[in-house]
Amino acid sequence: MKVTEHIAKSDGTLFSFEVIPPVKGKNIEELYRNIDPLMEFAPPFIDVTTSREEYVYIDRDGLYDKKVTRMRPGTLGICAAIKHKYNVDTVPHVLCGGFTREETEYLLVDCQYLGIDNVMALRGDAMKGQSYFEPTQGGHTYASDLVEQIVKLNDGCYLHEVVETDAASKFCIGVAGYPEKHLEAPSLKTDLKWLKHKVDLGADYIVTQMFFDNQRYFDFVAQAREMGITVPIIPGIKPIAVKRHLQLLPQVFRTDLPEALIEAVVACKDNQQVREVGIEWSIAQSRELKEAGVPVLHYYSMGKSDNIKAIAEAVF
Ligand code: FAD
Repeated sequence: MKVTEHIAKSDGTLFSFEVIPPVKGKNIEELYRNIDPLMEFAPPFIDVTTSREEYVYIDRDGLYDKKVTRMRPGTLGICAAIKHKYNVDTVPHVLCGGFTREETEYLLVDCQYLGIDNVMALRGDAMKGQSYFEPTQGGHTYASDLVEQIVKLNDGCYLHEVVETDAASKFCIGVAGYPEKHLEAPSLKTDLKWLKHKVDLGADYIVTQMFFDNQRYFDFVAQAREMGITVPIIPGIKPIAVKRHLQLLPQVFRTDLPEALIEAVVACKDNQQVREVGIEWSIAQSRELKEAGVPVLHYYSMGKSDNIKAIAEAVF
């Protein structure tokens, strides 16, 4: 079922979360062990991220060869496995970076055959070691281009032919939004203009980047609505888990951390205490957002799920 149908059907805030495929060579059991405890909160959908490729150096008899590889491939396989095991909708993240339009089309066709109704259309970040995002040859430059391709495919317009599609093969499309603006955007207003562009092209719902001050989300939603964006805007919540997040999250995601949260984390003796502070903060955030009537609370689980479970127990 489509994410927008789940939202329309529900009379309260839904619980969902995102998982990351295991690194190459690992099996799926560890992932299941982290999903199992969260299923009692009845997530209608689970997102599965896609990793961008990165450079690795291969030793060939003392000569180092630089190759591009993906450390966590298998997004679609993980989606299919989770969907089958838990009878839940899964949402693969589809990236511009690292894929040609043809590869994207084949991925979407596989999604259709697997009965996957939703896809999250994303640009992806620059590769490690690159300062800017460089589009893959034959691939898309912006997430909006990807949205356009998916919308066309929904209408039966494949890259090289037009075919008849059935209703069950049409995707519901999610896109990313940034309450504190995307790191490359010159202003929040410009970023919102491009967000509206994705929605005008056919995106059905938005999931936000993590934020730690709910006012940022409320202001963002108000501005988006003022600009005429009417689709659901799902808040993304990440519980802080280690002290290093104080530097890492602003650096990687450009999120501001409230003073009270910083002070509480700094005062922690170890990362177990930090984890507890992160849980408490996310519970407070989630309760306020739920009270405000957000359609879904979407959690970034980043591997271990004990903290997400503790939050869900307190909130749902
Ligand atoms: P876009 O919407 O293309 O925007 C990128 C930048 O370009 C923005 O600054 C925007 O303002 C600007 N822009 C957009 N359109 C235009 C235009 N036509 N002309 C000029 N400027 C424009 N990354 C992964 O690698 N894998 C994942 O699984 C993943 N999942 C994510 C899930 C969520 C909910 C979020 C919020 C992010 C996720 N990301 C993921 C990170 C995402 O790929 C990066 O934030 C990326 O840098 C931007 O992606 P986007 O889809 O927002 O890009």
